[in-house]
Amino acid sequence: MTQFLDTAGPTLRLAGMTVFSRRAERLTTLAADHPMRDFLLFCAALARAQHACLATRVEHAVADSASLRQLLTLLQRHLDVELPPDSHGALLCLLALDDAVLQALADALRHGRYDAHSPLAAAWPLLGAALQVQATIVVRQQDVAALPTGESACCPACGGLPVASVLRRGDSGHAVRHVCCSLCASEWHVSRVKCVACGNTRQLQYRSLASRDAAAPQPDRKQPHAHRGTQELECCDSCHGALKVVSRLQDGNADAFADDVASLALDLLAGDAGYGRIGFNPYFLPAQD
Ligand SMILES: [Zn+2]
Ligand SMILES: [Zn+2]
Repeated sequence: MTQFLDTAGPTLRLAGMTVFSRRAERLTTLAADHPMRDFLLFCAALARAQHACLATRVEHAVADSASLRQLLTLLQRHLDVELPPDSHGALLCLLALDDAVLQALADALRHGRYDAHSPLAAAWPLLGAALQVQATIVVRQQDVAALPTGESACCPACGGLPVASVLRRGDSGHAVRHVCCSLCASEWHVSRVKCVACGNTRQLQYRSLASRDAAAPQPDRKQPHAHRGTQELECCDSCHGALKVVSRLQDGNADAFADDVASLALDLLAGDAGYGRIGFNPYFLPAQD
């Protein structure tokens, strides 16, 4: 089975049923010899639990807070001993909240807003993971043909924030860029060289860890994929935002979420240079300014 279903042509690619299992495999691969090995392996366990939730709940209506609560409980059950004690305690507190409060926290997180200093903070990635499963199911149940098209800054299927861009070879043989949704993992087409946040197409530079101390070579129109990294950061000199670019041309198993968390060092380097992270990844929720 392919990871994506081309249900709406090349402009919108919906996530398939293997989206979380393939993400888990990628995270496990990237964890080997990685300085953040334990964190990546926990993300892999979380993605495996999400896969199990998706498989059991895909035929159900899940767009309310009661279903969100069910998904959180299912995630807890599938993670079992892999859930750290502080996350387990925070999750129990989260589940004890009434529906209105839980829904308000979920709505805020969906838009990238959360309190990293809250006593519940250790449960935010679990809430984000549940929202991802919920969004993936809801999007599959709606009329994709009725969704808006265009190069939007947010997901046309669910309104989610972008996590990263994904490059792959298009039908013409040229690289095609889609932006991946942080929630439902749908991918929508955006021009190859363009800041997703502000629309700037000129003042962009690309940084990779392969060239840790220097900017990556600028795109060469004759050899556009030569000497490029699997994980790069598109840095905009207009709005000073930076969004990860994950290349399936370089590695066919690359995944927006997995490769993003495995290359957080890139964001730190870019942050030192004055660029702010645009991508929202519920697996990684740092303190906000
Ligand atoms: Zn979405
Ligand atoms: Zn910009």
